[in-house]
Amino acid sequence: MADKYYGKPQGKTKQLMSASDFHTKKKWGQNFLLEPKFVGKIIDAADLDKEQIVLEIGPGLGALTKQLAEQAGQVVAVEIDGELVALLKDILAPYDNVRVCHGDAMKVDLEQLVREAAGKEGAASVPFSVVANLPYYITTPIVMRLLEQSWSWQKMVLMVQKEVAERMVASPGGKDYGALSLGVQYRAKASIVTIVPPTVFYPRPQVDSAVVLLENRLEPPVAVTSEKILFSVIRAAFAQRRKTLLNALSNGGVAGDKEQVQQVLASCGIAPERRGETLSLAEFAAITNGFAALK
Ligand code: SAM
Repeated sequence: MADKYYGKPQGKTKQLMSASDFHTKKKWGQNFLLEPKFVGKIIDAADLDKEQIVLEIGPGLGALTKQLAEQAGQVVAVEIDGELVALLKDILAPYDNVRVCHGDAMKVDLEQLVREAAGKEGAASVPFSVVANLPYYITTPIVMRLLEQSWSWQKMVLMVQKEVAERMVASPGGKDYGALSLGVQYRAKASIVTIVPPTVFYPRPQVDSAVVLLENRLEPPVAVTSEKILFSVIRAAFAQRRKTLLNALSNGGVAGDKEQVQQVLASCGIAPERRGETLSLAEFAAITNGFAALK
């Protein structure tokens, strides 16, 4: 382990905040990472080299960004807070391989930003890694967006709430199992790298966090005719968790009517009164292919 990551906390974030009179904004989930040891764990899990392009969501005051710039070829960082974007200009001035984009990571075309960083605007896709201490209020939607829409990311190393990390690695049947677990399982191999206590952030969150590593499988573990239908079936099944599969899918707009849902479930040998949380990814794939065959 390199010493530079594992030294004593330097309190840089606190210094920067008081020097610039910056006040954290709760609405944007600003919990800055103070402890170099955990920055180091994230960077180590990302296993970067100078050939790689990294997308960071929410660079904040640059605690991770600086280390990413040292380790990776190019870093693209998307930050919603204009005040932080201005501060980052100074903080990241020593690095010529970082581009900070002022925008909402939920809205901007992330892959386009990566293509621009690689100087390959016209390319169909450019491989990249995602490294982020995610704002808690968009964790699930942003991860689902990357899982649903993109094969180009190779690895994601994410700081998330511990409870979200547990959902990412959950198996069928448990309370943690849901749309996020299935999306992750379909696209990635997921593991929890480390649990992170609230004390290493400023301001302190109320719950533990965890660093998760998602490695893109490149080949999905189940074959589906349409990924779009797969994700809409998954979303519908968990949008109304307490409802039976028959009702949840009928109300979820994935098929024309209840009869069609009944027909598809019967053809897959899946009882209509089951609930989404009991179904494996293979069963969701079978339902998906049943719906695709109706179209
Ligand atoms: N990376 C920094 C760190 O580890 O100290 C900050 C992490 S903090 C948990 C989350 C960051 O995401 C904040 O800087 C916040 O302003 C930014 N953020 C929040 N919502 C965002 C969004 N929709 N798009 C881009 N950045 C966002």
